[in-house]
Amino acid sequence: MTQESDHGRMAATQGSRIDAYVDRYAARATGMVASEIRALFAVASRPEVVSLAGGMPYVTALPLDVVGELVSDLVARRGPVALQYGSGQGDPHLREQICEVMRLEGIDAGPDDVVVTVGSQQALDLITRIFIDPGDVVLAEGPSYVGALGTFSAYQAKVVHVAMDNEGIVPESLAQTIYALKAAGSRIKFLYTVPTFQNPAGVTLSVARRRQVLEICQRAGVLIIEDNPYGLLGFDGEPMRALRADNADGVVYLGSFSKTLAPGFRVGWALAPHAIREKLVLAMESAVLSHSSFTQLAVGQYLATQPWREQIKTFRELYRERRDALLDALEALMPAECTWTRPKGGFFVWASLPEGLDSKAILPRAVAERVAFVPGTGFFTDGGGARHMRLSYCYPEPERIREGVRRLARVIEQEMQL
Ligand code: PMP
Repeated sequence: MTQESDHGRMAATQGSRIDAYVDRYAARATGMVASEIRALFAVASRPEVVSLAGGMPYVTALPLDVVGELVSDLVARRGPVALQYGSGQGDPHLREQICEVMRLEGIDAGPDDVVVTVGSQQALDLITRIFIDPGDVVLAEGPSYVGALGTFSAYQAKVVHVAMDNEGIVPESLAQTIYALKAAGSRIKFLYTVPTFQNPAGVTLSVARRRQVLEICQRAGVLIIEDNPYGLLGFDGEPMRALRADNADGVVYLGSFSKTLAPGFRVGWALAPHAIREKLVLAMESAVLSHSSFTQLAVGQYLATQPWREQIKTFRELYRERRDALLDALEALMPAECTWTRPKGGFFVWASLPEGLDSKAILPRAVAERVAFVPGTGFFTDGGGARHMRLSYCYPEPERIREGVRRLARVIEQEMQL
């Protein structure tokens, strides 16, 4: 690890020293910096390292032979359409199917409300492009999804974090933050939230708070961006009702097939009020002309011919077993001073270290002990999160998860004695 990270650091410094274009980039390019997670991937993917770092879906659980047949059948039957340009808004039939998926979260929408995007990450980019001028404020949970923070930073937004606890965003903190920002003359463009099985904290906005958050934002005229890629991956009971289900005009909903099918298709979507949706389509066309017809039709074919609800259930059971393995191992092995969240779905646990420890400082030693996690600071824009870490249970097998926690607990115990 030491060798590899030193090498990485050297390359980065050399890179910036020899970058002949550095004074020619647009101002926004200064906000484009590699996330801490990205730098970690190379190290964490070494086979001897138990990675509790990345959030990669366990696509191996898909019937890959079925997917293969489906793709070759698609080329044979609909090749000329699948290999042609498509519309900026996305394949009409897939948009209808997306509406059917959305009904599971209480959303009543028509295909015309949907824009198909290259994963929900592109929807985030397009929304930010449409709304953000440099210095505009985006409200976001603290901690927040690192990919969204990267996008906001690339468009020079000012991210203001809103406090969050085990029930999600704290409504009082949201109301106070909005009030203070407005009093200071700031332009708040939207609230970005991952209300269900949040990345990175693993917590879910409670039903009562959903109502409050909707009310506060409606009263203050703040648009909500509801990013919900994990909503159907709950371990108990029915899916949560989406925020968008109770305010179609004030919420842009972002969805994705990355976790319920496979991220390799890169198919996500945005469900937006009429006016915003038109802008989204224009932004989409200027970015990529149209999404890949091929992957849209492949996903459509999958939804039309395969038992996709059963497949989501298989994923849920698999991730539940891994969540249990992680929580049981944390309970059994972590020092008493550590705490962590108990997710009821999704991929992530947010762990807190004892006072005085810094997760980023611990990481090199953890990797030397062959376990990786993501330090908490990457999920904040204001330096928060130093005592926290994100632990993902989605990818490693349960036995590996237990071994990873064993290694991590040892490292933390040693750090506590220093
Ligand atoms: N939002 C959240 C909260 C995520 O965790 C992710 C993936 N890690 C994304 C958006 C982007 O996912 P995709 O582009 O694959 O749909």
